Amino acid sequence: MASTDVAQSRRVVTEIPGPKSRALQERKAAATAPGVGSVLPVYVDRAGGGIVEDVDGNALIDFGSGIAVTSVGNAAPQVVERASEQLARFTHTCFMVNPYESYVQVCEELNRLTPGRHEKRSLLLNSGAEAVENAVKIARNATGRPAVVVFDHAYHGRTNLTMALTAKNMPYKEGFGPLAGDVYRMPMAYPFRWPGDSRECGPEAARQCIDQITTQIGAQNVAAVLIEPIQGEGGFIEPAEGFLPQLADFCRDNGIAFVADEVQTGFARTGHMFACEHEGVVPDLITTAKGIAGGLPLGAVTGRADLMDAVHAGGLGGTYGGNPAACAAALATMEAIESQGLVERAGRIGETVLARLRALADRHGIIGDVRGRGAMVALELVNGPADSTPNQDAVKRVLRYCHERGLVLLTAGTYGNVIRLLPPLVIGDDLLDEGLSILEEAFEQL
Ligand SMILES: *Cc1c(COP(=O)(O)O)cnc(C)c1O
Repeated sequence: MASTDVAQSRRVVTEIPGPKSRALQERKAAATAPGVGSVLPVYVDRAGGGIVEDVDGNALIDFGSGIAVTSVGNAAPQVVERASEQLARFTHTCFMVNPYESYVQVCEELNRLTPGRHEKRSLLLNSGAEAVENAVKIARNATGRPAVVVFDHAYHGRTNLTMALTAKNMPYKEGFGPLAGDVYRMPMAYPFRWPGDSRECGPEAARQCIDQITTQIGAQNVAAVLIEPIQGEGGFIEPAEGFLPQLADFCRDNGIAFVADEVQTGFARTGHMFACEHEGVVPDLITTAKGIAGGLPLGAVTGRADLMDAVHAGGLGGTYGGNPAACAAALATMEAIESQGLVERAGRIGETVLARLRALADRHGIIGDVRGRGAMVALELVNGPADSTPNQDAVKRVLRYCHERGLVLLTAGTYGNVIRLLPPLVIGDDLLDEGLSILEEAFEQL
């Protein structure tokens, strides 16, 4: 269901960005911190369904969802209605001062929807980074251990702790140190770049990780193993089969919290409610944000009751965490996902997109890898079939072509050589096909 008044068709009536957007971009340059960039500086007027309308009257096809956030659609009617109704009743009390039912309801829903039938508790926060920070706090407090294990290509946020957890230096960490300590990075089961281009590297990669944890840190010192079940900013890297289950088993055997960062993969995005379900992995703690509330800022940690209950009263929280409007939006979002069958819809989007992109890759040797699940799919560009050197330049050219024709498209990857598709799950088949056709043309034109 799309926002009622945004027509679901692409329309390009000016250069992109158009004159009004360019004027606003000049004001941005003068007034805003340049450290915050914009992938495509068309200034938005409104958005709904699979369309973003800009101030110049262009209507762009949305293959980004504001980075996997507006999965239920932008300004989704149920989200707008429920959040507006909440805003009119009260905007804020601070859950730590006077609590309210919707916060409790969101936690009940998170406990119900996340993998595993064990007893759970949830904690609400403002962002993905804050959720990850709190998961680490909880794991350290509950285990009494300091070390946190993370992976090559990981992205966990931009706060001091989460940038230390994040792999890529530029732009996330450069000049922002000193970084938080007791963070240890392990190899990732990255099929495309594992020596020998191995799709079966999962067990071997898990063996190497476990060996390094044992010999370099000591399992008894590890509070948490933190991993994205499909890496997001790192380039939509799907760990090879077996990697996640073996790490989760190792954690269970050694009293380590296995923490799944599902900030990008959660809430139906990958064709499951949570990406961990793909291999039946049940995390001890799970972090969510992005797709949770249809665009309102909300993050959460959900986890085993015994871990969550370990933390003393007052040890967790924040002024705005679980803001009532965000909670109302989250309840509407979760309802929309279930009532509109968006988990299944994400799976069907994946079938369409993967089939077309695999056919495209057969025609273009610079597409080294097509991967992802559901409505989270990426192309990794390389120099050619026999040379897997990252090809960032081709990514830039494809992106420019698509942007100029009114397709919002994002990049990712440690080497900036990955094109990622994150359409809203409510996008119509026509817009999805049209967006994919533009992307195909971009390769024909290269
Ligand atoms: C986006 C992201 C974060 C950080 O979330 P913010 O809301 O930007 O702080 C953390 N982890 C993953 C996997 C993400 O994709």
